[in-house]
Amino acid sequence: MAVYADVIVDITNEKLDRTFQYRVPEEMEERIVPGVEVEIPFGRGDRLIRGYVVETTDRPAYDPVKIKSIKQIVPGRVPIESRLIALAAWMRERYGSTMIQALKTVIPIKKEIKAQKKRLIRLNLSADQTQAYLDELNRKHCTARARLVQELIHQPELNYELVTKKLHITPAVIKALEEQGILCIQTEQLYRNPVRPAERQEKRVVLNDQQQAVVDQVTEDWGRGFRRTYLVHGVTGSGKTEVYMEIIARVVADGQQAIVLIPEIALTFQTVLRFYQRFGDRISIMNSRLSAGERYDQFERAKNKEISVMIGPRSALFTPFPNLGVVIIDEEHELTYKSENVPRYHARDVAIHRAETEGAMVVLGSATPSVDSYYKALRGEFGLFRLTDRAKKNALPHVYVEDLREELRSGNRSIFSARLQELLQDRLLKKEQVMLFLNRRGYAGFVSCRSCGHVMKCPHCDVSLSMHNHGRLVCHYCGYEEPAVKKCPECGSPYIGGFRAGTQQIEELLKKQYPEAGVLRMDADTTRNKDGHEKILAAFANREADILIGTQMIVKGHDFPAVTLVGVIAADLSLYTGDYLSSERTFQLLTQAAGRAGRGDVPGEVVIQTYQPEHYAVVTAAAQNYEEFYQQEILYRTISGYPPAAHLLAVLLSGADQEELSQAADVLIQQVPRDLEGLTVIGPAEPAVARINDIYKKVIYLKHKKYDTLTEVKDHLERFAKEQPLLEKINMQFDFNPMHAG
Ligand code: ADP
Ligand code: ZN
Ligand code: ZN
Repeated sequence: MAVYADVIVDITNEKLDRTFQYRVPEEMEERIVPGVEVEIPFGRGDRLIRGYVVETTDRPAYDPVKIKSIKQIVPGRVPIESRLIALAAWMRERYGSTMIQALKTVIPIKKEIKAQKKRLIRLNLSADQTQAYLDELNRKHCTARARLVQELIHQPELNYELVTKKLHITPAVIKALEEQGILCIQTEQLYRNPVRPAERQEKRVVLNDQQQAVVDQVTEDWGRGFRRTYLVHGVTGSGKTEVYMEIIARVVADGQQAIVLIPEIALTFQTVLRFYQRFGDRISIMNSRLSAGERYDQFERAKNKEISVMIGPRSALFTPFPNLGVVIIDEEHELTYKSENVPRYHARDVAIHRAETEGAMVVLGSATPSVDSYYKALRGEFGLFRLTDRAKKNALPHVYVEDLREELRSGNRSIFSARLQELLQDRLLKKEQVMLFLNRRGYAGFVSCRSCGHVMKCPHCDVSLSMHNHGRLVCHYCGYEEPAVKKCPECGSPYIGGFRAGTQQIEELLKKQYPEAGVLRMDADTTRNKDGHEKILAAFANREADILIGTQMIVKGHDFPAVTLVGVIAADLSLYTGDYLSSERTFQLLTQAAGRAGRGDVPGEVVIQTYQPEHYAVVTAAAQNYEEFYQQEILYRTISGYPPAAHLLAVLLSGADQEELSQAADVLIQQVPRDLEGLTVIGPAEPAVARINDIYKKVIYLKHKKYDTLTEVKDHLERFAKEQPLLEKINMQFDFNPMHAG
């Protein structure tokens, strides 16, 4: 049978999907795989040009006699484009998508680039004048101005955008200082480099023994050509970033390059500055504010080895460095490393695969490692290091766990426990700042008893049931349903129902109870406007308010030294999201929230309110004991057959017609091969949000110990769907080891 190859001739074209089909000569069949660079006759004159194979098939796209043949495989070194196309092919197979979707994820699109104008801020004063002015600002408590001037002392030239976006200083403050003649704003035609501070003043720290041990081991492996993945489990502030930089320095000294992944929300000005101070112009950053053109441009610089270190969120993983030496993934447990677009890849797994094929190593770091990574580390798949001490030795906060059932019993019906009220009052008197945190993530429709804490759970899946509009309790994994209850099946109390407390309600309550307090609220409503998010954080940083209320967006990556009290309103909101990750997520959120308290000189306090004070995620987070949490959690995953003990594949189906969708789901589930030993088929069920914009959704879950068995099932379902008219109007997507509730 003849084999054909789809060849792409210009991978930097906007039209990545424009491929040309060629016949594969028999003697090349073995070697023609996605990514291979080939020479082909092109156009009327059949001039020879080069292209890359993106896909092979045995079906000709048009009349076979008109299809030209590949001339030859280009000999020599494998170019980076080839490797990225091969990576895309791997992602397509592993996560399920079309080749085009995978290519577009991996390869940047070339766009016309408008010359960007960037603004830089510089001081107009001498060093002495600046210091005098700074003293005056501090005396007058002009905190925002003082912070900016302080920063300019460190760094005589600052990017305007970085100042407003990352330092949270408003344009009005900058303007005022400009009008006073303190600073000037210069506009500069700036080609390409988003990082452009002026002088570098490098202050090297001396690594402590724990840090040094990591660096020694990793660089020793590196030196003798041994490549693997490492996990650095290091408490917040233990100096992981210093360790990363040391490892990168070694790799760069050997003429190779590094990719540093940091969740966008933690990609702060200060972080970038630290890398800049160490590596200067050899670094570049990537973020979602970069236009497609700028992103493309950054990739070109990487390809040409103008830079050696790329720092950015998930998508920076595809930086086309020709000699990649290391990929660092900071905060490796973060959900944002999992893509929600097809192909739904996990950056950690793709990084490991890319590193393996390109001879690089991977360093993962977190204060609360994902259960997945820790499991692999304990099994010896990853090298494991622990950093147990904070580099700067400031004390961990004191954590109180408040039992909301007790509060109810003692007659307190407020959503604030007695302890939280007392500490709030104290902080307001002392003029210290407070953060109140509602750890709600999207949809949390669980039903619990306010008297005894009992939570309604699925008897088959061991996850919480969710209240649906039609008044029934539903499992989002298996579709199990039962009628809503009026009385608690455990204790008979009538106080059973959905938990409702929004940020807005909390705000109103606070205003009533503490009319003199300044309150800011940060949630989806208040951050809808562009920069809404930044403005609120800026106002809080400038101490324009005493209390900041918010959802998870307030606990990540922001340092507010004046915060000495953090309150978690109801830990239960993330404990019962109806999926297997709810405890892991809760542990991480509580640990992070606790980390927000007392980052300045004053030690902090944390109040965790919950109906389940004995839940292991709450207990272990309060004790800051990761190891204990992990032991409990892995037991649950093993017994219930959830990742990493087994793998889970969600087949997501959606369509405009509810009836057709139901039928399709039923037909599809029949297609799942029954003879695969150990395969569990669950559903079809309705996901947490079963209808969006009149598009209905269904989901089928497949569970197996082996990932590869699930990709086999995926391939089978894909083939079947192509030939089934019933499935034509249905959108089918695959999500391996899904990480988002429902
Ligand atoms: P992490 O990334 O683990 O949260 P960082 O690398 O940001 O920790 O370190 C926290 C703080 O401690 C930073 O201000 C850093 O400069 C400082 N630090 C880290 N290691 C050392 C060290 N060995 N000696 C002195 N200060 C250190
Ligand atoms: Zn009860
Ligand atoms: Zn169930």
